[in-house]
Amino acid sequence: MPQIFIEKDPLYFNKIKWVMTIISQYCKIPYNFVSEVSQSNISIGSAGDYNICIDNVFFLKLKNGQTKWKQILPDGPVYKNEKGDECLLETIFYLVNCIQELTIDKSELDHYGRFKYTSSLQYHYGIIETNFVGQLIDRLIEKYPILSDGMGIPNHPSQFFLSHDIDLLHSGWKVEVYLALKEYNWKGLAKALKDILLRKPFYNNIDSVLKIDKSCGFTSCFYWLPAFGKDKNGIMNADYSIDDLVEMSTKVADEGFSNGIHKSSFHTSFGEEMNRFPFKPEHNRYHFLKFQTHEAWKEIELAGLKTDASLGFAEHIGFRNSYGLPFVPFDMDNDQPFSFVEIPLHVMDGTLTQYMGLKPVKVLEKFQNFISINSSNSVISILWHNNELTEYTHYEMFMNYKSLIKYMFEQGHIGVTPNGMYNDFQP
Ligand SMILES: [Zn+2]
Repeated sequence: MPQIFIEKDPLYFNKIKWVMTIISQYCKIPYNFVSEVSQSNISIGSAGDYNICIDNVFFLKLKNGQTKWKQILPDGPVYKNEKGDECLLETIFYLVNCIQELTIDKSELDHYGRFKYTSSLQYHYGIIETNFVGQLIDRLIEKYPILSDGMGIPNHPSQFFLSHDIDLLHSGWKVEVYLALKEYNWKGLAKALKDILLRKPFYNNIDSVLKIDKSCGFTSCFYWLPAFGKDKNGIMNADYSIDDLVEMSTKVADEGFSNGIHKSSFHTSFGEEMNRFPFKPEHNRYHFLKFQTHEAWKEIELAGLKTDASLGFAEHIGFRNSYGLPFVPFDMDNDQPFSFVEIPLHVMDGTLTQYMGLKPVKVLEKFQNFISINSSNSVISILWHNNELTEYTHYEMFMNYKSLIKYMFEQGHIGVTPNGMYNDFQP
């Protein structure tokens, strides 16, 4: 077993221990942290003859508020010390924990207050679709084989987390009539009008979504909005009542699927919104992906949630923190890990079509390409809204979803649940 010694320098001890825990989870090998160099088979520190050398300057920079990627990673996505040597543990700490988002200027935010993809180092260095931290860990293992206990570079097949944010249940007929009129789609309009007369469920389709996921052996998670109507920025929240939420989430739980809170865009607290549920929510995703990472992490910790599944860019698929696995974020204010698990979001239906402008026929190809690049050592998190699982405007996206989960099923990929990840990724 790897016996890890880390020099007891309060500037970085807890942070480097956190990085080593990330590496241990990636390798799926337990590490033993020892207090004497003589007991170790790998040693880490800055002031002495250690196997891995730590750069104090990096941690001093963070301490002094120099956290922007242009300050830390000015000429590439790997941090270098003053001699020009690459420092991989420091880089892993910086990337996985989203340090580039610690202090943000207004110009880096979009008009909803979200950190923009184009503000990120992932955009600048063209690494958004790569599990870049996974590659850095592989390099460390090549150099220090003891990190994977001599088992070589890990090759664990990627797993999948499927989820559905439920924004709309009742206004589907209105939306579909509006869209058909807007696009002069007379066939679509005729179908929508006929289905209104036939009292078809439109977006009130939770039964059907459960059935589709089940048919490919996936038990997904449904995130529910406990707040009705538009906020002052014009963001629409739920079009359904708490009674609907109670009825539908009970159905989901009865089928053995997971439920979570979809924190609204209103200024109400988690506590207030969680009290509206018939059960105590343990898992969250922010509606509209409207959050600022480090503030959000404090809120999630305070609310006592087990997981959050929000960390992704609305504008592009891929790895917002350049890492493929869930992780426990590090609390910079208190110099210790938080107690919840962050499950980064990689692919959202609307990202592919609305933001990246892909035609629905290209979506599946793009997705399969993304999976093939990341077929190992990741938990790929996918969000498909229930209104994109209907036979109306989004019919092609509906078919894409079905093909997608069938493809994953046939490839033998396994689905995971938020509770499963909470148990697997606790330090
Ligand atoms: Zn939403």
